[in-house]
Amino acid sequence: MKECPRCGESNPHKLADSPVAGVFTIWGCRECNYVWRSTEDLSGLKKLTKEARERAVDLKYLTER
Ligand SMILES: [Zn+2]
Repeated sequence: MKECPRCGESNPHKLADSPVAGVFTIWGCRECNYVWRSTEDLSGLKKLTKEARERAVDLKYLTER
């Protein structure tokens, strides 16, 4: 896996392998906290831009105060 399908950041990290080896791998992205399985169809996934992530963080910060 070269990049996160959601935010496009490179180097997602492997979270887990399937119980039966080689069926799928679970990946996670540190940048946007998205988690996905290698067998998922991600073609319809809405991209999360860096700007959108920063805004989401801001909103969370504001609403938690
Ligand atoms: Zn990501």
